[in-house]
Amino acid sequence: MNEQSAFDATRQHGGTGGKIVVALERIAEAFRVLLWNEGKAAGLSPLQVQLLIFVLHHPEEEKRKVGRLAAEFNMTKPTVSDAVKALLAKELVEKIPDPVDQRSFSLALSPAGEALARRASHFSAEIQTPIEQLPEDEQANFLLHLLGIIRHLNHAGIITVQRMCFNCAHYRPGHDGQDHFCQLMNTPLQVSELRVDCPEHEVVG
Ligand code: SF4
Repeated sequence: MNEQSAFDATRQHGGTGGKIVVALERIAEAFRVLLWNEGKAAGLSPLQVQLLIFVLHHPEEEKRKVGRLAAEFNMTKPTVSDAVKALLAKELVEKIPDPVDQRSFSLALSPAGEALARRASHFSAEIQTPIEQLPEDEQANFLLHLLGIIRHLNHAGIITVQRMCFNCAHYRPGHDGQDHFCQLMNTPLQVSELRVDCPEHEVVG
């Protein structure tokens, strides 16, 4: 581990890696601010906004249960449970009972919740704009490096649920580590086609 903190401003001229870490922290801060702004008008916390957006884009009932949502957002079950209670009280989500286990339920959006989630899911547009202005090959490189960081964080046990190609049972790298192949679709993947959140992702057994 590097002994020097990336946040020691007097040493930042020494290395590019530390500056990238500080820059990523600034961007994480921007995500927090944008989520707060998005939720403010509706009296929602950032986590409540994230839950609405997640439910909007993940139709699988298993992924909409409190336990799975807690793993998805690296939160405790009681924290997610409280956020869900607030969303239920605001009538933005509804409980769908599990036919097999009566104590269990998944979430569905109410019409008001869906309208809010659709609006809110554009909260990161200001972050996307400068990225989309980069040339295609730089975007692909950027994606590859970010996937590498996410894979490292996942291996280190810092972030849990990841549905990206690099930890999918269907993924095969090329011999030189440069090429990428999806066995499920039986097709090579360009870097720009590598997935960060793939519905067909399968955990390596
Ligand atoms: S199934 Fe999805 S995550 Fe898995 S290798 Fe294929 S594209 Fe990537």
